[in-house]
Amino acid sequence: MNRDLIYPKTASGNSGVTSLKLLILGSGPSGLSAALYAARANLNPVVLTGMDLGGQVSLTYSIENYPGFPEGLGGPQLVELFKKQAEQFGAKIEFDTAIDVDLSRRPFKVKTYNTSYLVESLIIATGATPSCLGIPGEKELIGKGVSYCATCDGWFFKDKEVAVIGGGDSALEEAVFLTRYAKNVIIIHRRNAFRAGVVLQERAKNNSKIKFIMNTISTKIIGQEAVRALVLRNVVTNEEREMPFDGVFIFIGHVPSTKLFQNQINLDEKGYILVDKLMRTNVPGVFAAGEVSDPYFRQVITSAGMGAAAAIQANRFLEEVKS
Ligand code: NAP
Repeated sequence: MNRDLIYPKTASGNSGVTSLKLLILGSGPSGLSAALYAARANLNPVVLTGMDLGGQVSLTYSIENYPGFPEGLGGPQLVELFKKQAEQFGAKIEFDTAIDVDLSRRPFKVKTYNTSYLVESLIIATGATPSCLGIPGEKELIGKGVSYCATCDGWFFKDKEVAVIGGGDSALEEAVFLTRYAKNVIIIHRRNAFRAGVVLQERAKNNSKIKFIMNTISTKIIGQEAVRALVLRNVVTNEEREMPFDGVFIFIGHVPSTKLFQNQINLDEKGYILVDKLMRTNVPGVFAAGEVSDPYFRQVITSAGMGAAAAIQANRFLEEVKS
């Protein structure tokens, strides 16, 4: 029996329940790679993009370490290529977001903003979102000088004084990007050594617009209608001072997007989905791939690989339960 016909969509096309062999949540490198592999296995996968097609990659100005593109390419451009290739083999990309899931029995139930699905297997590739500092002024001044995305907001800081908080690859890469616009970019890092790779460290150090304040945290962002200054504390001397800035970009890591799955599948203490090396969660038929289950690598290439592996395994699972 063709399960796709059990719950046809209503005439409006945006309500009712659709039955699927495989639903993929998330449209970053892991979700779209899973879609490509699943489509080529004739699973007719549907991908729910979430709020942003491509996830974090689509906010990345340039990607230089994805093999096959020696000149590098823009994040949105890579996402478009992933999407095009998956669609070419029959994957369906829906601009929709899951808002409720029931993984207690198969077929799993997934409710979205627009419709509902009954799915025989599920790949969770919902990625991660930027972490917040949690200091006074941060939440209040988002969009008024506080940002988590240089590609999105860098342009607003032409000839301005900008702070970048963090010491990982993102902080240094985005600081370099911000020098296209800003007058000065000050990287503020809580330790005296960077977590970022040496290539990015060298690039930042060789950029005359970038300066560094080490062993320092920000304890407050000051401003009413716009960011005006940061309160900085040296963690060695405990000395506090105020320093004027027009903007602050925060790149201090990510939290996995797993709220929807709490109490339904096993997560680690930081909220990442626990998977085995076959990308299986503890719920048979539910797989996870990419940053949602990966606190270790978090690269486009590793996420894409995990997505492909999850799709191969979902196909094997569906073959096994059928026989
Ligand atoms: P990350 O590697 O986890 O680095 C986060 C940085 O923020 C660290 O330097 C950390 O300090 C600092 N930090 C964390 N919490 C903080 C707090 N509350 N206050 C102040 N500082 C805080 O995150 P990421 O830079 O976003 O990178 C995520 C992953 O993506 C990594 O695997 C990275 O390699 C990858 N990535 C790669 C590229 C590339 O290859 N071009 C570009 C971007 C990202 P400590 O160092 O003291 O812990």
